[in-house]
Amino acid sequence: MAEAQRERLTDIGPPHYEKYLPPVVKKNYGQWKYHELVEPGVMVHVAESGDELYSVRCASPRLLSIQTIRKFADLADKYCDGHLRFTSRHNVEFLTTKKENAAKIKKEAGEMGFPAGGIGHGITSIVHTQGWVHCHSAATDASGVVKAVMDDLFEYFNGEKQVPGKCRIALACCLNMCGAVHCSDIAILGVHTKPPRISHENLNKMCEIPLVSASCPTAAIRPATVDGKASVEVIEEQCMFCANCFTVCPAMPLADPDADGISIWVGGKVSDARSKPMFSKLAVPFIPNNPPRWPETIAAVRKIVEVWADNARPYERVGEWIERVGWPRFFRLTGFEFQKEHVDDFKYAGLSYNRSAQLTHEPWEE
Ligand code: SF4
Ligand code: SF4
Repeated sequence: MAEAQRERLTDIGPPHYEKYLPPVVKKNYGQWKYHELVEPGVMVHVAESGDELYSVRCASPRLLSIQTIRKFADLADKYCDGHLRFTSRHNVEFLTTKKENAAKIKKEAGEMGFPAGGIGHGITSIVHTQGWVHCHSAATDASGVVKAVMDDLFEYFNGEKQVPGKCRIALACCLNMCGAVHCSDIAILGVHTKPPRISHENLNKMCEIPLVSASCPTAAIRPATVDGKASVEVIEEQCMFCANCFTVCPAMPLADPDADGISIWVGGKVSDARSKPMFSKLAVPFIPNNPPRWPETIAAVRKIVEVWADNARPYERVGEWIERVGWPRFFRLTGFEFQKEHVDDFKYAGLSYNRSAQLTHEPWEE
């Protein structure tokens, strides 16, 4: 494709990524022989041509200030000819062809407060959504919970402690799931547990009633006349607390300090290695919000990490391990209570139910 044509095609989106590839990546595109971990946080890719590319992966605060981005850019200018990338889990990776530069980047980034780690059999940074900092429908905070959880798990990030395989953690602050909670080994998901409160006084001044009705994925909202005014009613048993209605109508708030909290999901993955990609499944239905350090959430996540680390086989992801030993054993080992919320009552759930009495694929030792 001609360069000018490519420019035209991308003028309303990001520029074509090829334009910004480091020269060594462009030169060896599709010709990489292998990659390996050099030390915690440093990885090398070796090409068929013999070229080497060192990646230094550092934690980022995720919500980035201009000052932080300038620090990253200065470091990339100093050692990487200006090249860096952000991973899908919000790490920043500095890319250099010189081995000696990798050590310098790791040291200087660490001194600035951005430690290297998160590659290989460890826990990488947690991808998260906006939380109370910005989003209107958040049932929990994002940055605050993630900071507290990652501080607790830091030994698994910087290589001090190993786990059997990769472990990806994600947080989304409501079930719209802007974060990758559906496909992460451990997912922290904010949940509302009460239907919206309706301000009949304001609703027809602030919102379009047909639009509000249409916004509900479960058809729980119906037009209604209340005190002689056009408004809506919510069929509460149909409501799944998704906050879609609040997104289009500020007269239907859901946020409730006592009823909002956190659920924990496990076993998702995107990777195709060894087994198919998996969706996360519910482990803990509700933990109350407890800022600023969310100790109950930290304890639940650590429990899953430790039980998996103690029991899984090498390379086995959390979901693969649970599928092998069976969900009853997962609940027994973690001590999480099996509750009514664990039974899927979605109308199509019958399609995915286990239709056999065999819950595990191998016997286990008690
Ligand atoms: S997950 Fe929900 S609350 Fe969080 S940023 Fe996305 S829409 Fe907003
Ligand atoms: S919260 Fe979701 S399910 Fe409940 S009424 Fe609003 S749009 Fe419908």
